[in-house]
Amino acid sequence: MNKDTNNDIAVNNDMENSLNNTNNLEKDNQKFLTVTMGCQMNVRDTEIMEQMLREMNYEATHEQEDADLILFNTCCIRETAENKAYGRISSLKKLKEKNPNLIIVVAGCMAQKDQEAVRKRVPHVDLVFGTHNLHQFPDLLQEFKRYHHVKTSIWEEDEGLVPVLPTKRKYSFSASVNIVYGCNNFCTYCIVPYVRGRERSRLPEDIIAEIKELVENGVKEVTLLGQNVNSYGKNFKEAFDFSDLLIEIDKIDGLERVRYMTSHPRDFSDKLIDTIAQSQKICEHFHLPIQSGSDHILKEMNRGYTREMYMNIVAKIRQRIPNASITTDIIVGFPGETDENFQETMELVNDVQYDSAFTFIFSPRSGTPAAKMEDQVPIDVKKERLQKLMELQNNSSLRINKALEGQILQVLVEKVSDHNSDMMSGRTRTNKIIIFPGDEGMIGKLIPVQVTRAQTWNLMGETV
Ligand code: SF4
Repeated sequence: MNKDTNNDIAVNNDMENSLNNTNNLEKDNQKFLTVTMGCQMNVRDTEIMEQMLREMNYEATHEQEDADLILFNTCCIRETAENKAYGRISSLKKLKEKNPNLIIVVAGCMAQKDQEAVRKRVPHVDLVFGTHNLHQFPDLLQEFKRYHHVKTSIWEEDEGLVPVLPTKRKYSFSASVNIVYGCNNFCTYCIVPYVRGRERSRLPEDIIAEIKELVENGVKEVTLLGQNVNSYGKNFKEAFDFSDLLIEIDKIDGLERVRYMTSHPRDFSDKLIDTIAQSQKICEHFHLPIQSGSDHILKEMNRGYTREMYMNIVAKIRQRIPNASITTDIIVGFPGETDENFQETMELVNDVQYDSAFTFIFSPRSGTPAAKMEDQVPIDVKKERLQKLMELQNNSSLRINKALEGQILQVLVEKVSDHNSDMMSGRTRTNKIIIFPGDEGMIGKLIPVQVTRAQTWNLMGETV
C-alpha cells in the first residue's frame, strides 16, 4: 500500500501577503517557466506537467521575471546534478522576495528522494511533490492557491500509471512515448529504483492508441521510453513482451521510425534481435549499456550479466543486422576496480568496436549501496582511466564513421545546425548526427544524404 506523506507547513509572512492578492493569482494570463534536469523520462514528465498547466490557463514564458510559476523537474542521479538544482532554486530567493506571488514548484527525483532536504535547503519553495504522484500536480496546485499552505506531497510508492495527456513536444515530427515506468534492477550505484519505484508497464492498446494519434498529428518518429524497456510486460497476466509490442507498433501506417531507450543486457532476448531484423520501422541502433568489462565489477554492480553473455548479444546483433550501430555507457573507477579490471573494460571496448560511448567517472550517490563500499578509487586514477578509455573509443568512432563516407543514408531532418545557419542537422536510422547544406523547409522530412566527410562525433554530408 502506498503511504501518503502529505505535510502542510505553516504559512510564512510573504505567503500571507500573497493571500491578500488573490486577483493576481487568478489572473487569466498566468505564465509558467519549466526547468528540466536529467534524463529523457524527465523531459517527458515535464511535457505532461506543462500540458497540465496549459489546461489551467497558464502559458509558457522563457523569462523568469515574467513567470507566475517556475517548476523544477529535478534529477538526483548524481550529487552534482542535485547541487546544480539547489543552486538554481536558491538563486530564485531574491525574485520571490520581489514577487511574493511567484509560485516555485519542485518535482522529480530529488523531491521524491528527500522532501525534508528540499524543504530545509530551499524553504522559499511552495510546492514539492515526487515522481510517484506527478498526476496530482493540478490538485496540489489548486489546493496551494486556495489555502496558501506550502504543500509537500510525496507518495512512497506508485499507485498506478501517469495519465497521458496530449502534450506539446520539442519537435512536431518526433515524440517520446512512455511504455514502462520504474525499475526493479537495483544496480548498486543507481538511485532510480528508489525514486521511480517498481516496474509498471502501460497496456499495449494504450500505447498503440497514443502512437496512432501522434502519427495522425504528423509524428514520423517515436522513441519508446523506460528505464528498462526490455522488461516491458513482465507484470502482465498474459504473455506479451517488448518484442510483441514492437511488432504491433511496426504495423502502424504513417509511422516511419521507432527508437527505444534504455535497453538492459540482462533482459535482452534473441526474439528482440529477430523482431528488429524483420521490422521495417525499428531503427538499427542498439544502445546497450555494458558499464564494465570485468565480471567481478559487473557482479559488484549487480548488473545481472557477465561479459560473455554481453558479447554473445553483440555477436548475434552483428550477425543478424550487419549495418547496426551499437553504443554503450561505461563507468570507470567503480569501488574496487583494479588496473586489471579496467584493462578488461578496455579490451571489451576494443573487441566490440562501439559507434560511440557515454563514459562516466563513478561518483558515489548517497542512498545507494556503492556509496558505502570500501576501496573507493582515487580521483586522479579515475581521471586517468577515463582519458585512456575516451581516446580508445574516439579512435573507434572515427574509424567506424569513416567507413560510411560515400554512402547515401536516410536522414530525418531535425533542425538548423547550432553552428551554421546555412546547414541543417538530422539523424540517420543508426542515430548518427549528420550536418549538410539545406533550409528550414526540410525540417521533419526524411531525405537521402550522402556522407562526404566523417568526424568523430558526427558526419558531414550533401543532399542527393
Ligand atoms: S537498470 Fe540499473 S542503472 Fe538502469 S535504472 Fe535500473 S537500477 Fe538504474
